Amino acid sequence: MKKVKYLIVGSGITGLSFASKADNYLLIEKEDKAGGLCKTIRRNGYVWDYSGHFFHFKESRLKRDFVDIMNPRELIIKNKCTKIYRKNLFIDFPFQKNIHELDKVDFINCLYDLYFRQEKNKYENFEEMLYGKFGKSITEMFLKPYNEKLYACKLNILDADAMGRFFPYADFKEIIFNMRQKDKTSYNETFLYPRNGAEVFINLLMEKIEQDKIWFNCELIDIDMNNHMAITSKGCVLYEYLINTIPLNLLCNLLKISYNNILSANKVLVFNIGFDKKSQYTDIHWMYFPEKKYNFYRVGFYDNILEQNRLSIYVEIGFNEKDVINIEKELEKTISGLRKCGIVSDHRIVDYSTVVMNPAYVHINKESEEFKRYLFKELNRKGIYSIGRYGKWTYCSIEDCILDAINTIKQIRCYE
Ligand SMILES: Cc1cc2nc3c(=O)[nH]c(=O)nc-3n(C[C@H](O)[C@H](O)[C@H](O)COP(=O)(O)OP(=O)(O)OC[C@H]3O[C@@H](n4cnc5c(N)ncnc54)[C@H](O)[C@@H]3O)c2cc1C
Repeated sequence: MKKVKYLIVGSGITGLSFASKADNYLLIEKEDKAGGLCKTIRRNGYVWDYSGHFFHFKESRLKRDFVDIMNPRELIIKNKCTKIYRKNLFIDFPFQKNIHELDKVDFINCLYDLYFRQEKNKYENFEEMLYGKFGKSITEMFLKPYNEKLYACKLNILDADAMGRFFPYADFKEIIFNMRQKDKTSYNETFLYPRNGAEVFINLLMEKIEQDKIWFNCELIDIDMNNHMAITSKGCVLYEYLINTIPLNLLCNLLKISYNNILSANKVLVFNIGFDKKSQYTDIHWMYFPEKKYNFYRVGFYDNILEQNRLSIYVEIGFNEKDVINIEKELEKTISGLRKCGIVSDHRIVDYSTVVMNPAYVHINKESEEFKRYLFKELNRKGIYSIGRYGKWTYCSIEDCILDAINTIKQIRCYE
């Protein structure tokens, strides 16, 4: 029977980052290639990620490592240009800081409600936080409808801090200040992107992995926690530590741990669509759509980022995890929506691909956080570490996944 120190489950960015720092390990992946959500589809001259996967870093050390291993000719660096499209008007993102770009009536309503908002010291849920911090109009014109479309749930089931550092908070003073002088301090103000898609980085990480230490088409199907034994579709593996990066709800199923409705998430349908010519919008990187008349909540322009001469977009549509998705109907609605907002006119579709990300955005609330705290303590005691965006059941970026992998291996070595 195969025996290793680390059995790493899943070869997305988290699993690969962990493997690149470990020695005695086996990495198993149920698909036939590595990358997880950071895979790229290249067809007919279009470069499509599973949905736009752009690299942004808060840690300069990680950014340096990323730039160092990347071929400079491959790397694109952009200052983001993102817009909200509402009532046929473009408003800079984030909405709450750019209300002065609205028409006069909407602007006055937003400002009035912002001034007279009823702040609290502590908020019970995400929706209450939006009303308390930004007032009724900002919340109901953008923050609530947009996030309801994305998360595909009522916002009062989410924790006030469900989006962590990814939520663009702004106090009254910052909002007023931004009317004169644009604040450019968001977490992804500048982003990096490989010319051939996010998978380029995955391939560079794969160069550090010895071929016999990764088993593709190998699914984790059961775990004997007490005997540190994993049952995979290619046989049993004894491990000292099991490093899990597959979604936490699936891990719980394998471990026969019940979680009832505590671990819920949305799923996101992505259409990557390549057209025969450019859109009239040639400088926007991605656009947000709060209105219900559009089935999508976000559309990104690969061609404006990669400086290509044909429109190439990703379209993201949020669903509840229980929804049955009718792909053809959604595609029809999408094309009609793209026409309505002027992204396309008489454009011809050359090629498209469909991806369902499930889970995509997990629903974070008090119950899920408490459940995880208890669960992770128990699992760690049995040599199981569940990490990464879905292993940890959290909202985080590629960089956070890399950091989680590095910190976990350090933590294990520290205990030894
Ligand atoms: C719509 C959307 C857009 C995003 N955009 C960005 C962005 O622009 N920038 C950014 O930094 N982050 C972005 N993210 C976040 C980013 O995708 C994740 O943080 C990251 O890709 C997670 O990587 P991971 O390795 O933890 O998980 P995954 O990529 O999900 O990898 C898990 C792996 O486990 C494998 N697996 C599953 N079950 C089994 C099993 N039973 N046995 C064996 N293997 C199994 C899967 O096949 C997969 O390869 C986005 C996320 C979403 C949903």
